[in-house]
Amino acid sequence: MIPTAIMTVKKDVFYYRVSTMQQSLEMQMSASERFRKELAPSEYVVLTELGYSANKLSIDKRPVLQELMDMIKANQIRTIYLYDRSRLARNFYEYMMILSLLYQYNVELVFTTTESSYQTFSEDLMIEGLYAIIADEEGRNISRRIEDFHSLTPNKKYGYLVDKASKGYQYGKNPMLREDIHTLFDEVKSINSHQAFLIFLNKATRLTRKPALHILQMIQDSFYAAHSKRGEIYTVLEYVEPYISLEEHKQIQLQLSSIINVVLREVNDSHLDNFHPPYCGECENQMEFKAAKAQKESYYICSKSNHERISVKAYNEQILTIAMKILTHLNIHELEKKVLQELVNKKDELRFQQDSLYQQNRKMQYEVVELTDKTEISVHAETLEEIQRQLFTLEKQLIEYELYEKHIHHIVDLYHVPEFKKRKDLIGLTHFFIGNVFLDKEVLDIEIFYSSYLDMDKLVKELYRY
Ligand SMILES: [Zn+2]
Repeated sequence: MIPTAIMTVKKDVFYYRVSTMQQSLEMQMSASERFRKELAPSEYVVLTELGYSANKLSIDKRPVLQELMDMIKANQIRTIYLYDRSRLARNFYEYMMILSLLYQYNVELVFTTTESSYQTFSEDLMIEGLYAIIADEEGRNISRRIEDFHSLTPNKKYGYLVDKASKGYQYGKNPMLREDIHTLFDEVKSINSHQAFLIFLNKATRLTRKPALHILQMIQDSFYAAHSKRGEIYTVLEYVEPYISLEEHKQIQLQLSSIINVVLREVNDSHLDNFHPPYCGECENQMEFKAAKAQKESYYICSKSNHERISVKAYNEQILTIAMKILTHLNIHELEKKVLQELVNKKDELRFQQDSLYQQNRKMQYEVVELTDKTEISVHAETLEEIQRQLFTLEKQLIEYELYEKHIHHIVDLYHVPEFKKRKDLIGLTHFFIGNVFLDKEVLDIEIFYSSYLDMDKLVKELYRY
């Protein structure tokens, strides 16, 4: 006989990750509602995480994700409900690590997005792995961050030590990395399947601690064969010590071209610039992002013709400048003290209401059994439904407050970390400081958060000077 004690009851998890304070949470909660309402409150837990910019935090600095992983390892989870892949991991390595846990502990992953074309969770590691690369936000950034990637004399090149002192640039293998990079290229040469390619990528991202896309670009880069490529013409770079021969480089390209092209087509887009889309001042619809094509740069446009239009680059410049100014001028101590205290109070109040609603809910569920009259039953059912609606709203508010708390903590962190005090590092973080932006007759109308913790006169003055 099996002792009942070892039969642990597994729970379901609803995992929300939001990067803005607005629509995102509502969207994720509503999408998961059809699954949630099938469960009793004791059958699931809700985990929420405030999404930071893509690449700043590793798993060990993401306590909520860590908690989830601990629960998986303790065999406490049956199913995880998640809006989509991008909510869970920010890079290939992270995603693969979580995936392997899910497979190992037999946890089901359900994507709640209602988008019909969204690919459901695959039991096939290879397929999920390919999705992981595409969802690799860190990878998406890298193509833009390495500005001199195609330069003949880059200031930095992974795997090389650059000597600028003597006669022009000289690139010698970095003795610290030399072994690893040789291993990497040796392994690339023997790849003959998608499966092998994924295993290679997983290993390479661990070895080099570089995102998957960086590895992809590296193995396509003829610099490592000490050649530059223009069109189909290769020119030798005398000042570079090669890791592989030109023949080997060409062989690798041929072998991997089909796999790599599929992946790169998905990730090498300019959609990253679309981090804080504006609304049209005339019709109040969100403006459409038109990605750069050929000679034309990206722009935002209202779907109704003759309304607003603005260059994405010019727009982002302004948004980043304003976010930077706000961060610099915030009265951070006041903000921390007052807002956090207020949030604690509000949360207590909500929890109190939530408890009493839960009790009412339970009581009514018992009572329904005793009812016989049809009208009474339907009135009862309506009341019950109303209570459940209120519970949903309460839970949403609670989650919002919790996120808001995390949000404040993050702003305080941002304020104190000097490396963040660079404008371009605020990409993806502008939602911390700025709400909706309306474009009205070429003028930006901007909702600024925490205005009571800002010297607005000073801020406005500085912005006009800009
Ligand atoms: Zn419009």
